[in-house]
Amino acid sequence: MDTIDNVFSVKGRKIAYFSMEIGLKNEIPTYSGGLGILAGDTIRASADLGLPLIAVTLINKRGYFIQKLDYAGRQSEHPHEWSPSDYMELLPEEVTVQIQNRDVKVRAWLYEHRSHTEETVPVIFLDTDVEANTPEDRQITYSLYGGNRKYRLEQEMVLGIGGVRMLKTLSCPITKYHMNEGHSSLLALELLHLNYMNQDKVKELCVFTTHTPVKSGHDIFSHELVLELIGNNDDINILKKYGGETELNMTLLGMNLSNYVNGVAKRHRQISEKMFPGYKFYSITNGVHSHTWVCPHFRKLYDKYLPGWANEPELLVRVRSIPDNEIWDAHRLAKKELIDHVNNECGTDMAYDILTIGFARRITEYKRPTFIFSDLNRLRKVNETGKIQLVFAGKAHPMDIQGKMFIEKIFGYIKELKGEIKIAFLENYNMDLSLKIVSGVDIWLNTPKKPLEASGTSGMKAAHNGVVNFSVLDGWWIEGCVEGVNGYSIGPKPDADKSAEQVEMMELDDLYNKLEYIMVPKYYHRKDEWINVMNNSIEMIAYYFNSHRMMHRYVTEAYL
Ligand SMILES: *Cc1c(COP(=O)(O)O)cnc(C)c1O
Repeated sequence: MDTIDNVFSVKGRKIAYFSMEIGLKNEIPTYSGGLGILAGDTIRASADLGLPLIAVTLINKRGYFIQKLDYAGRQSEHPHEWSPSDYMELLPEEVTVQIQNRDVKVRAWLYEHRSHTEETVPVIFLDTDVEANTPEDRQITYSLYGGNRKYRLEQEMVLGIGGVRMLKTLSCPITKYHMNEGHSSLLALELLHLNYMNQDKVKELCVFTTHTPVKSGHDIFSHELVLELIGNNDDINILKKYGGETELNMTLLGMNLSNYVNGVAKRHRQISEKMFPGYKFYSITNGVHSHTWVCPHFRKLYDKYLPGWANEPELLVRVRSIPDNEIWDAHRLAKKELIDHVNNECGTDMAYDILTIGFARRITEYKRPTFIFSDLNRLRKVNETGKIQLVFAGKAHPMDIQGKMFIEKIFGYIKELKGEIKIAFLENYNMDLSLKIVSGVDIWLNTPKKPLEASGTSGMKAAHNGVVNFSVLDGWWIEGCVEGVNGYSIGPKPDADKSAEQVEMMELDDLYNKLEYIMVPKYYHRKDEWINVMNNSIEMIAYYFNSHRMMHRYVTEAYL
């Protein structure tokens, strides 16, 4: 590919999509969890639909991290070195961002995501590992969510300010800047400068999506640190005006300079309005990229009976044209692959015909990864009604001590239940492993603490593969769940007037009772009814909770 091609591939791009993390594929480890996967799915759907979108992120040459677990479940983190030149091309363009009065040079790698529709979306990976930079500055784009507050702010300056400058240097005629979370909010500062401080003009240009009600998910920096790095009193005054007088809140900065601000599910919009009184939020419920998150066995089925489904996932509404036995066979093949993998990795000796429950996502407190172990005797009773086995996976952030302890606790339960319930924890959760687990289990379990799951997307992936959701009524599941028809809920409705203790008791009752009295018997004794719930998952969930529908909404509501 020469530079002429580069010009063609970025020329005419009108929507700039900024994200600190992007999950394009396993080999490009610049993502940590749902936020990055969503960014990847946004890019994949935009390419399918031929949208003039260009994405901007950081190269993170040491990725997030490789997770290793010892015999007791203690996590250690190892740099995930990878080689950008295997997948993308270094562009000749270079821009400069001033950090602490140093001119930090920023280069860009161009990755082209190509859709099966032959359309492409370019992704710009910013890189400060340039000879002219100091050794320290060369490392700014090494580690996703690594380092201290200073390192994070440097990364966000490169992403937001450097990103806008790079797009300008590449002559992209951008009409919308979409901030996927507050990590890129400094782009609005740069846009103010480019537009002679015309805030209305900047607001017209910007779209902001908030992704979490969890406090630590909102980046906050002291003005002291901001002044140290930005070193310019005029900028500090601007940032105080838009991002908070006492400290720089990147969510406020992004929201105050965007005309369109949204949450990622209907419930999340309500929660966000409570968190930020006086701000207007829209909501666009997340979706997943259907083709990416359907396993090969189901892809084959959908290709045969619902041709065109990949670029028109609405067609999955006609899943009933596929005979039940073929749905079940595809599921059995996916399950066999997972069980074989689990047995190879963990030596667990799991069986193909046992009801398998999956739980895999970032391991952190609000996700309550050990919730199913709250009452071991009730769990044993479920297992006496009909055998169950459990598959876990997930990384804890290196600084999340509590998250790491959850993994050790799960390892403890594995030992404690040995000889009774087979449980495996798979190392190093990533996109490939995710597809294996969400398609290979029978039940997808999600037990977040309400109302902290803004949307969640892994359950949508499960539904795409006919896997049955069993989840707390939070995030997307409030919109998706039809009780007993396309899955099962855990705990009361979101607006129920209950204390935290009452809610948890009801959640535990539902968790164990529905497994023991409804799901286990249906799975083992009324297979036709079970397959009916699988079909309903595809028909009622996959056809709607996909990123094609999501991007149609972003285009008509936010971008145009
Ligand atoms: C889909 C996905 C997630 C998001 O999972 P949630 O349960 O929605 O939080 C996280 N990590 C990976 C690797 C994924 O594929």
